[in-house]
Amino acid sequence: MRCIETCREDFPALHQTVTGGHPLVYLDSAATSHKPRSVIEAEARFYQRDNANVHRGVHALAERATEAYEGARRAVARFIGAPDPACVIFVRGATEALNLVARSYAQPRLGPDDEIVLTPMEHHSNLVPWQMVAQATGARLRYVDLLPDGTLDLPSYERLLEGGRVRVVAFTHQSNVLGTINPVREMAERAHRAGAVVVLDGAQSVPHQPVDVERLGCDFLAFSGHKMMGPTGIGVLWGRRELLESMPPLFGGGEMIREVGLFESTYNDVPYRFEAGTPPIAQAVGLGAAVEYLESLGMERVRAHEERLVAYALERLGQMPDVRIYGPRERGGLVSFNVEGVHPHDVATILDQQGVAVRAGHHCAQPLMRWLDVAATVRASFYVYNTPEDVDALVRALEAVRAIFGAGATPR
Ligand code: PMP
Repeated sequence: MRCIETCREDFPALHQTVTGGHPLVYLDSAATSHKPRSVIEAEARFYQRDNANVHRGVHALAERATEAYEGARRAVARFIGAPDPACVIFVRGATEALNLVARSYAQPRLGPDDEIVLTPMEHHSNLVPWQMVAQATGARLRYVDLLPDGTLDLPSYERLLEGGRVRVVAFTHQSNVLGTINPVREMAERAHRAGAVVVLDGAQSVPHQPVDVERLGCDFLAFSGHKMMGPTGIGVLWGRRELLESMPPLFGGGEMIREVGLFESTYNDVPYRFEAGTPPIAQAVGLGAAVEYLESLGMERVRAHEERLVAYALERLGQMPDVRIYGPRERGGLVSFNVEGVHPHDVATILDQQGVAVRAGHHCAQPLMRWLDVAATVRASFYVYNTPEDVDALVRALEAVRAIFGAGATPR
């Protein structure tokens, strides 16, 4: 077991000074996480030693590359509790994974009498693909209501399912804005009783808490490597085998075929059917190393560490009278907020001048911004390498914002 308290040492990019010579305080891991040395080295080692294309060659390097790529698939499957590695499809990221399900699973099946249930807290990547499906098929989009604290109104979810038309329920495990952790198991059970398939956006949960597809009961799970210490350009769609096998491929090309004729082709098995062309091999190897690193910390301990940090952040920010915090108390490791009277981009800019990296904007969740009745928020997000001192640095930097703008200034 690796120690969370000292793991910060493993992340080279965290040890630098930024704007004005301030030490970097990185509070933007919900956008993308930093990478431990073991991930950076695994990817470099692959290029230095094993680099070859996968599956097609018989030479030594091709075999090593294939073994490394398939080893990463096995590691990912183990990490999410998936018994069958063949159900792990490597894609570019959560966005591609969600588009693949929407386009390949839902679009051919749905028609004007069908409904897709979503929530208003979805990231655009779990909204727009479903809007496209709705436009192509005539299916109707329905939304679960939100309660004032930013959790889902489960009775409204029940009512939607009672209509008997819902074929797909797609929602996020953890909100990238509110931090809300949705009750997946309960929602999946209810969806299945209504005959719907459950698509889970795990982009913000898989990196931060134990995720077990069998226990959660979802039918598809989408997530991105770069938010879980892995490289960019790699992500995962996991699906139940019978569903994956029933889906036509989205992209045609090499690797995804069994037999190609001039006028038609037959397709390869799952997962290769969905991995047309040369896949992101080195990135998969890096993701495998990221999974091993997270396993060495223990996902229960990752979650516990973030729970402590976010509780401390809520306490400290809650003491600032002109800071408005969004979302429930029980949440994942992030806090979205606004400073009364100061535009979130100004807040983020002043924080950056003190070395504190946060994100400001709509966080690819414009419908949620409308629900919150704000144009944007500031978001501080935590990971294993953050400490209570990082929260203190955030609070100190926010004091500077208040000093510059005058605490409690009237909103612009
Ligand atoms: N869903 C959620 C909840 C996210 O936070 C993100 C990334 N911000 C995505 C999906 C999309 O991930 P990616 O951009 O890596 O495809």
